[in-house]
Amino acid sequence: MQNVSHDNRIPLKAVVDQGYCVGCGACAYKLGTAMNINRYGEYVPDLDSLSPEQLTDAGIEALCPSLHPELNEDVLARESLPPGLPFDRSIGYHLANYAGYVKEAGYRERGTSGGMGTWVAAQLLDKGLIDGVIHAKAQTRDSLRSPFYAYELSTTMEQVRDGAKTRYHVVEISKILKMLEQKSGRYLFIGVPCMVKAIRRLQHQDETLREKLPFVFSLICGHLKSINWSLSLAWGAEVQPEQSRTIQYRTKGEGISARRYVYRVSADDGTTVQKDSAQVPGGRFNSGAMMLPACDYCDDIVGETADLTIGDAWLPRFDADEQGTNMLVVRNQVINDLLQQAREQDQIMLTTLTVEEAALAQAGGLRQRREGLSYRLLKAQKQGIWCPTKRVKPGEFTVNRARRRIYDLRTEVSIKSREVFVKALEQGDFSLYAREMDSLVRKSRRAEIRGSFFRLAFNKLKRAFIKFGMLPKSASA
Ligand SMILES: Cc1cc2nc3c(=O)[nH]c(=O)nc-3n(C[C@H](O)[C@H](O)[C@H](O)COP(=O)(O)OP(=O)(O)OC[C@H]3O[C@@H](n4cnc5c(N)ncnc54)[C@H](O)[C@@H]3O)c2cc1C
Ligand code: SF4
Ligand code: SF4
Repeated sequence: MQNVSHDNRIPLKAVVDQGYCVGCGACAYKLGTAMNINRYGEYVPDLDSLSPEQLTDAGIEALCPSLHPELNEDVLARESLPPGLPFDRSIGYHLANYAGYVKEAGYRERGTSGGMGTWVAAQLLDKGLIDGVIHAKAQTRDSLRSPFYAYELSTTMEQVRDGAKTRYHVVEISKILKMLEQKSGRYLFIGVPCMVKAIRRLQHQDETLREKLPFVFSLICGHLKSINWSLSLAWGAEVQPEQSRTIQYRTKGEGISARRYVYRVSADDGTTVQKDSAQVPGGRFNSGAMMLPACDYCDDIVGETADLTIGDAWLPRFDADEQGTNMLVVRNQVINDLLQQAREQDQIMLTTLTVEEAALAQAGGLRQRREGLSYRLLKAQKQGIWCPTKRVKPGEFTVNRARRRIYDLRTEVSIKSREVFVKALEQGDFSLYAREMDSLVRKSRRAEIRGSFFRLAFNKLKRAFIKFGMLPKSASA
């Protein structure tokens, strides 16, 4: 983040210039402008050709996930979801929470986790509740900056199934929404929480879009990676960035545990390489390499405004199953009925999770974007840097020195990786990136391991004190 004061006259420009743009494309869609890909491999709206009047239109500003905090996730959820749902600060409003996977052939094998994302989408299509699915699908690449994935509309079961798997890759909604204007019918939108938030903001203003998108699903989101991150994985597997054609981020296979991210890249000469991302500098997803800077200022982990949230059930009891198990947060009665019926018919495995278990399954993400966010917001406030107003308040959580160091190092990894990779690309030398990232990522990892050790020891001690009545039960919260 740059230490420049917020340009009050054009907040949309401030969002882009100061690194709070998630590249969703909501503003570009309404302004009729392009979404460009910058040198970091991230989407940014082309605002230069627009007049100050266009850019400061209150309706346009209110679409941006980083502006207008009065339209936060809690407000949008109340507007979009059935009334009366219980609320929890970690997972938002919820009707039911589950862990599960698809038993019906093909879905779990082809999915990243338990295959539920594709299966529920296919069920909605099969039952005639929707006419198609808007989700991220593989693209044909023709230049270094070309995206590997982009939003597309799938209208057949085959096309929906073909879209399975997670894309740790930037996407934007302006093009697909433009295309949707020409179509009648009802569709399912799938996206990460900030994309879903942008859709909900658009629906807030546009009755037609509310009717056209009766179902909106969110993937749980750790953070989003640039196109350059995919190029770094390719290069790390000795596929030249200019020659990389396809990438699959998490493959399944014998001996590959659900927590190992083994990726597969192909080159334009037809060769395919498979590699463990942990063996590539900055390749371990959680290292934060080439994360969008905006992700450091996000507090929605589970897509709280969506009808259905789909993620991984990162709980010890599901770890042994290398095929992957989903975590689901359901906020829509139709989806809940569909899931329960499918369980009765033995099409899926479904087991109820408590709210605490659901939050525990995403404990790392919640720490980073609640406790960590409160620290980053306080730091920005002290330095006089403008940043978006979030539901989490600056300094709301007490963050000890070890945790502060972890958060600082993660931010350093994401900022430095963006710059160094561009330099490596310019000089055609991957070792430049590898050298710099290797030592920084190791430093960050060491801090995480030390931090986890103290956190686990502290929690154990606290539980013991509670057990022997030396602390009230409420202290476990
Ligand atoms: C950037 C990112 C970060 C994530 N971080 C976490 C995390 O921290 N914790 C966690 O539990 N889960 C996370 N997930 C979700 C997880 O990786 C799986 O996508 C999820 O569990 C669904 O698995 P599945 O087997 O049911 O999916 P599938 O059956 O493979 O279905 C996935 C569906 O989502 C669509 N899709 C995939 N990626 C995108 C995308 N980027 N934009 C739009 N549509 C897309 C696919 O086209 C497909 O329709 C993340 C996903 C993404 C994209
Ligand atoms: S976050 Fe979305 S709406 Fe906001 S400036 Fe970026 S592209 Fe536009
Ligand atoms: S972390 Fe937040 S801002 Fe970043 S991609 Fe995920 S939902 Fe969007």
